[in-house]
Amino acid sequence: MKHVASCVAAILGFAFFTDGWAACLSPGASRVKLQVLGSGGPRASAGRASASYLVWIDGVGRILIDAGGGTKTAFHQTGATFDDIDLVALSHLHPDHSAELPALLWPDGGTTLVAGPTAGEAFPSIGEWLDTLFGADGAYPILTPRIGLESVTVDVASTDPVVVYRDGDVLVRGLSVPHGDVPTIGYRVDVGDASIAFASDQNGSDPAFAEFAEGVDVLVVHFGGPENSTGNIAALHAKPSVWGQMGATADASQVLVSHLNIPSYAELETRLGYLRENYSGMVTVAEDLMCLDVE
Ligand SMILES: [Zn+2]
Ligand SMILES: [Zn+2]
Repeated sequence: MKHVASCVAAILGFAFFTDGWAACLSPGASRVKLQVLGSGGPRASAGRASASYLVWIDGVGRILIDAGGGTKTAFHQTGATFDDIDLVALSHLHPDHSAELPALLWPDGGTTLVAGPTAGEAFPSIGEWLDTLFGADGAYPILTPRIGLESVTVDVASTDPVVVYRDGDVLVRGLSVPHGDVPTIGYRVDVGDASIAFASDQNGSDPAFAEFAEGVDVLVVHFGGPENSTGNIAALHAKPSVWGQMGATADASQVLVSHLNIPSYAELETRLGYLRENYSGMVTVAEDLMCLDVE
């Protein structure tokens, strides 16, 4: 089956991974690994969980990027433990990127940093959101004594990247990205020479993010609309060709395409074609629990 999938992938011109979760938990030559916990989008995603990614460093799952629905199941399938999480970096507070955090913390709680954006018109700041959920007067007071969450706020008005976490040669920075009127942060994780940029949901109109992501090993992009999108979808989500331009401008070694709730395989292929018109590097289509070596 794996051989068949590989052949299909080769014909279509993109990489298709069928490796299971064990690839990230198992020791390997690569210090840094990226595991997809959720590769789906906000709507029905053919069994995919919503957006979430786990960065493994030296065999430990330490950095969680986004926590969309389905994350808890996938997180435990990886063999990771929340006690090892040093940072939860939420790109924005749309539920398909954030709704699973209370479930992840139940029942054992946890102590970690939680990074996210400043407030916007219809959205609280990351600190206000955490208080609303986990404060003594919040939605889950049962969790209040079990957790120690410290918020790290990335100001969406800042035009410079903001450091949200640094430990040894691990550096995580955030930068505001345009996602309609939703305060949204893209993140870059550097571990020694290995690097990953998480573009999150964005319309791709600000070239600052490609500069921020310059030279990364993996650029994670979120398909959110077709090439001919207009109106609200176009304000929220980059067209596939724009993602290709971003990958090329950033000179990313690999683009990981995620956030998939595409109606058909043929439509996915069409969108990948637009991306490939502008980007000639390796393109990988995300699958839940997929593990990538980052080097
Ligand atoms: Zn989304
Ligand atoms: Zn969104």
